[in-house]
Amino acid sequence: MSLAGAFNAFKSSTLVSWKSTGKFQQTIASCIQRTGKALHSGEVTTVKICPEFAGEGRYFDFRSSFIRASIDFAEETPLCTTLCKDGLTVRTVEHLLSALEATGVDNCRIEISNSDCEGRSVEVPIFDGSANEWVEAIEQVGLKMATDCSGNSCEKLAPFLNEPVHVWKNDSFITAFPSPKIHITYGINFPQVPAIGCQWFSSASFDDSFYAKQIASSRTFCIYEEVERMINAGLIKGGSLDNAIVCSTSRGWLNPPLRFQDEPCRHKVLDLIGDLSLFARCGSQGLPVAHIVTYKACASLYRKLCFFCFILFL
Ligand SMILES: [Zn+2]
Repeated sequence: MSLAGAFNAFKSSTLVSWKSTGKFQQTIASCIQRTGKALHSGEVTTVKICPEFAGEGRYFDFRSSFIRASIDFAEETPLCTTLCKDGLTVRTVEHLLSALEATGVDNCRIEISNSDCEGRSVEVPIFDGSANEWVEAIEQVGLKMATDCSGNSCEKLAPFLNEPVHVWKNDSFITAFPSPKIHITYGINFPQVPAIGCQWFSSASFDDSFYAKQIASSRTFCIYEEVERMINAGLIKGGSLDNAIVCSTSRGWLNPPLRFQDEPCRHKVLDLIGDLSLFARCGSQGLPVAHIVTYKACASLYRKLCFFCFILFL
């Protein structure tokens, strides 16, 4: 069974109902463009985000090919979320997609390019390791109501969870409960890194300002002792103390101060929103309206969630 098939099952199952959010679909008011270094490839990449019609959703435009920001094209890759279609890949999409989902940019074209005119792969810039750069850029130009090509506004749907769902792998899990509003509770545990240890973060509510103030500025983190292994695996070629917070098992944080005492846990929430945004279709919300409780979740669990929905409800 393909991931696309599983998603369609999720979409048509009784587990979720696609209902109106009471809002209209939006897009960005005008284009924004940012250039920066990518974390894993180290390349310099330019991203231009442009307004799009309602119903078109979010999609990347790479080498004049369109790759929808959808679970249909998501690939499991180490340490980042990748979209892949027809041999073209766009890596590390999660922070950008998290910012677009959380701020309500439901429809947009994301042009992305690097200096390698022949390459088949491109990567979204990392900036400071958080979603701040994107949120600030979006706030600068603002949003507008998106209309379809006939000039009509379109209501924005969201997946509302009807029944509890629970998936797990070893000691990590994702549980989601029906809830009239989005709540996210996230736990991480690094017993071998005392400066991080066990952390839990729980969102009180989830409006745009909560994300901008409490989540967007939390940065990617990594364990110092794992950096060499990642470099040997061809990852984090663009990594530096400017685009991640680095923690040593014995010496604690190497580049303080943290922006939040529980910044690593908040960053996981940022990533989760980016990954769940891939459930969006045709300008809808991707993030399920539910109380989501996760502990040590990883990207593969989201896939498992998708399959879980298929197995149980068809
Ligand atoms: Zn991240």
